Formats: sequence, C-alpha cells, structure tokens
Amino acid sequence: MSPETHPEPHPQRLPASLPQTELTRHRRLREQGSLDRADLEAILDAGFVCHLGVVVEGRPLVVPTVYGWDERQLYVHGSVAGRSLAGGTPVCVTVTHVDGLVLARSVFEHGVNYRSAMIHGEARKVTDPEEKLAGLRLLTDHAAPGQWAYARQPSRKELAATTLLAVSLEEASVKIRTGAPDDGDGPDAALGLWAGVLPLTSTWDAPVPDPLLPQETPVPTHIARREGTRHG
Ligand SMILES: Cc1cc2nc3c(=O)[nH]c(=O)nc-3n(C[C@H](O)[C@H](O)[C@H](O)COP(=O)(O)OP(=O)(O)OC[C@H]3O[C@@H](n4cnc5c(N)ncnc54)[C@H](O)[C@@H]3O)c2cc1C
Repeated sequence: MSPETHPEPHPQRLPASLPQTELTRHRRLREQGSLDRADLEAILDAGFVCHLGVVVEGRPLVVPTVYGWDERQLYVHGSVAGRSLAGGTPVCVTVTHVDGLVLARSVFEHGVNYRSAMIHGEARKVTDPEEKLAGLRLLTDHAAPGQWAYARQPSRKELAATTLLAVSLEEASVKIRTGAPDDGDGPDAALGLWAGVLPLTSTWDAPVPDPLLPQETPVPTHIARREGTRHG
C-alpha cells in the first residue's frame, strides 16, 4: 500500500503491537512469532494474493484471492454469486511468502524460510458506495499500482455484480523464519552431509502485450517499470 494507492487514510492507526488473544497466541514454534505490526504490514505490502478461509454450509473453504489493505482493514472482492463472500461470518485470512527451502542434515529438521500473516476476524460486507469504490481502488492499486487511474473504472452494473468484504486487521499474527537449518550443532553434524538454504525469489518479467492491441500502443510506465523488480 504505497501513499499513491491510499486515497483516504484512516485517522487512527491500530496499536503498534499485535494483540495476543486466544486466537492469535502462538503455541508452536513461538520463536518465529513477531508481535510487531510493522512486520504484518511489510508482509501485506509484499504480496497481493491471500487465502480466505471460511466455513460455508458447514464445510471449510480456503479460497485464494486478491486483496488490498489500509491501516485498519483488509479487503477482498469477487462475484456477488461467490459463496465464500457472503459476509457476516468469521474468517481467517493468510498471506504467505516463501523465501527458501531449509535443507537440513536430517529429514526431520527440513523446513521453509518464510514470512506469513494470519488475520482472524468477521467479514463485513461493504455496502457504502464510497467505501466500496475506495476499497476496490485499494485492491486494484495494491496489485497493480497506478492501474485504477489508467483503466476504465467500474460501471454501476459492474459494481452491483461485485461483492467487497472488509476484515479488520486488529486480530492478526505473524510468523517469520530466517536462517540456516537447526541441526548444525547437533549429532547429525557428524554425518558430513551438505546442509543449508536454497533461496527462492520471484521477479516480474517483461510485459506481454495482448495480441489484439494495435502495435503502436505503448506500455504504460507504471507497468513497464515493474519489469525485473522483485515480488514477495
Ligand atoms: C510456507 C510455510 C510452510 C510451513 N510448513 C510447515 C510444515 O510442514 N509443518 C509444520 O508443522 N509447520 C509448517 N509451517 C508453520 C505453520 O504455518 C504453523 O505455524 C505451525 O505448523 C504451527 O501450527 P499450529 O496449528 O500448531 O499453530 P498454533 O501455534 O496452535 O497457532 C496459534 C495461532 O498462531 C498463529 N499462527 C500459527 N501459524 C502461523 C503462521 N504460519 N503465520 C502467522 N500466524 C500463525 C495464528 O494466529 C494461530 O491461530 C509452515 C509455514 C509456512 C509459512
């Protein structure tokens, strides 16, 4: 969420520390937990796809979906026909970035270097037209900064066909793992096996024009400038 994609900042920021509630308290691998809201915001900033977990008709559904966010809430959107977007229900949203494979001496100690966030909340269906438009702008510009102003904006009919849900960022947790395998100073160090981290990064490639575009159509700067930059 860069300043240019944030039309109307909420005046009140959430506390700088993440709350430790019955839902967010880490029980396992606690040393990987962070209570710093800045870490949550960095994780949200680095991605644009989340997994929305919701119980629909008694069964869990985990839906990968695009998100946007501001200081207080995360927005997801989709078709009004989407069963996962009914709103008014508890949801759990995760955002995950994989930074590398942790290849240990023992299979047991293998792992992943990662940054991940989990948000617990109630999904609120956004009905106020102004908030809906602002939320959709956040979402669009979070994935593709500058695209809201560049592309044609939604018509009334398109807006009516779109559901926007907001989930408060109040009750959220973060886990981050970095560094080497954990068995370098244990008995398995004597095995003489290679161990370490296989880092993983993803970058944006060159834009591929729609073959139906007139040839002379330039690639807008806000799209072209992302080539070669890192995602995640
Ligand atoms: C890419 C990736 C791969 C992983 N692979 C494994 C694996 O193979 N095996 C394994 O055991 N674990 C793995 N983890 C860690 C896993 O996500 C859990 O943190 C861990 O398994 C503990 O789960 P739990 O249900 O016991 O959590 P608990 O400690 O009981 O969870 C309590 C609360 O802590 C918070 N929390 C838990 N996990 C996370 C998280 N990852 N991010 C943010 N908040 C969290 C939530 O708010 C949750 O409600 C992986 C994580 C990532 C990101």
